[in-house]
Amino acid sequence: MTVTVPFLDLRVPDEERAALLARLDAVLRHGRLVLGPEVAEIEGLIARFLGRKHAIGVNSGSDAVWLALRAVGIGPGDEVITTPLSFIASANAIRLTGATPVFGDIGDDLNLDPACLEALITPRTKAILPVHWTGRVCRMDQIGDIARRHGLMVVEDCSQAFDATYRGRRSGSFGIVAACSMNSMKVYGSLGEAGVVSTDDDALADRLGLLRYNGMRSREICEEIATNSRLDTIQAAFLIERLERLPAQMARRRAIAAHYNEALADLVEVPLPDPDSLHGYYTYTIQTDARDALMAHMTADGIEVRVQHSPLMPEQAPYAAEGAVAHFPNAQRLIKRVLCLPVHDKLSDAQRDIVVDSVRQFFGKA
Ligand SMILES: *Cc1c(COP(=O)(O)O)cnc(C)c1O
Repeated sequence: MTVTVPFLDLRVPDEERAALLARLDAVLRHGRLVLGPEVAEIEGLIARFLGRKHAIGVNSGSDAVWLALRAVGIGPGDEVITTPLSFIASANAIRLTGATPVFGDIGDDLNLDPACLEALITPRTKAILPVHWTGRVCRMDQIGDIARRHGLMVVEDCSQAFDATYRGRRSGSFGIVAACSMNSMKVYGSLGEAGVVSTDDDALADRLGLLRYNGMRSREICEEIATNSRLDTIQAAFLIERLERLPAQMARRRAIAAHYNEALADLVEVPLPDPDSLHGYYTYTIQTDARDALMAHMTADGIEVRVQHSPLMPEQAPYAAEGAVAHFPNAQRLIKRVLCLPVHDKLSDAQRDIVVDSVRQFFGKA
């Protein structure tokens, strides 16, 4: 069966390709392939974009979350509360510091439910790791209040929510430190692997600078045990180009989502805009009890749809085997109802309409 509507389209259109090739050419000419000037430039641009003092470029979102947690001192014996519904990197990053992930439950917005947090706090709890799932920022005012009351740190995983806001503030500007992926599938992506850690704290920024390269203070002096997590100059150069293109791409993504909201709200639960937050629509995730049948119907229509991400993190073998502390009935209910429809900025109006027609036909409301 041929796919008429791909979930993602990572091909680069001609005009952008020429611009990216010019950026690559500039790097090839100066030859500073490791921590070249483009790395410092994109770090400055991202820090300004997020409204933070520092941004430290790293080689992936997975490393960004891990290094963010390490930089604030999370380690063996500590507990970090997070959502059960994320890409496994979020839990792995906690585990790789030596700490224990403690999984809360989610609300109907698919994000960590602030109401579940206080019951999970123990003397070992050091931090909360909210993940802004699907591109919708978590209720950061409530999460921040609870963290302050209990003396906990907030470390954000913004990998799905670059350019999303909550009460006028961008994701990545709430926690003591925030981590973001810029792999090529994200809304703001490099041409491969990339990530960033952001903070307002000078000492944390300094420590992150060491942690991203083997804990080295200088060419000779090692101060911490770490590995190589540096951002490539070439990816930084591509990210500079792509940051300029982001507003138009986000506008297109949000326009497609608004169209879906309008066209599908009578049939399925759609991710309606929230007056408190500007959704980034990394995924356009609907909810319906008929999920499996709808998924089969749309796949047969040549539309690529996905469930992100099942199994839930605590149900993945390494965590299930550890008997992870968890009680997440809402996540177990919602993971059977969610379906991600194609929403990328290269989707044509015709493809968008194919998606809408397929859903409407499935429900007999064409
Ligand atoms: C993509 C993603 C990551 C991992 O990022 P990589 O750059 O692929 O390593 C971490 N957390 C979340 C929520 C993600 O969506």
